[in-house]
Amino acid sequence: MLINWLKERRRREILERPFPEAWVNHLRRNMVHYTFLSGAEQQHLRNLTQVFVEEKDWEGCGGLEIDDEVRVTIAGQACLLLLGLDHVLYRNVGAILVYPSTVLPTSMGYDGQVQRGPMPILGQAVYRGPVILVWDAVKRGGAHPRDGHNVVYHEFAHKLDMLDGTVNGTPPLHTKEQYAKWAAVCTAEFNDLRQRSERGRKTFLDPYGGVNEAEFFAVATEYFFDQPVQMRRGHEALYEVLMSFYNQDPAERERRHRAGG
Ligand SMILES: [Zn+2]
Repeated sequence: MLINWLKERRRREILERPFPEAWVNHLRRNMVHYTFLSGAEQQHLRNLTQVFVEEKDWEGCGGLEIDDEVRVTIAGQACLLLLGLDHVLYRNVGAILVYPSTVLPTSMGYDGQVQRGPMPILGQAVYRGPVILVWDAVKRGGAHPRDGHNVVYHEFAHKLDMLDGTVNGTPPLHTKEQYAKWAAVCTAEFNDLRQRSERGRKTFLDPYGGVNEAEFFAVATEYFFDQPVQMRRGHEALYEVLMSFYNQDPAERERRHRAGG
């Protein structure tokens, strides 16, 4: 296809430009997980980031001015999810809207749900629409790599989920067996999370993941990258289905990082 060819050529041109040193510093400072990556992974992430920054439309809202720090920080975190995927660089994301701090959601719920009154949010992935993010939450999530919360991972996980046209907590997988295993493991974990939180018991995942299957996948993705060692220890089956989808092993990466390698 001519369009694809042009796109490929354009991407090659983007990648011929050097990756600015200032951008590396943005990644290091605002995305601590970047420092956990191997040299090859960092290179791959920088390439994805460079194309992502260029191809997406960036819009500052509520007085926020978009600059390289905003673009690179969001692009880097979003692209971490793609490191092991045969991806399409979020072809379902055209624009990213960034607010300085807490925003009220638009009336467009990603799954068509009616919003009950204005409720502050840190981000939103609009189905067939933009990703909306709050800059102070993005920075907070990226700088605290082990608290289980990262709004960029969360919203871009929704976008991966949406790639197959349904928002049901299952991103596009490869084989029938993969779908079967995914459904079995995620259903059990989802029900367990709901039951425990209904009874007021402590849960590993944020109880927000019990709202529906789509939120479950987005929340589980946050923990998979933010608290991988704990997830592997306490929820091994969930860790494994996520690992087989993302084709990454963040727990091993973190272990290596802690060992100083
Ligand atoms: Zn969500």
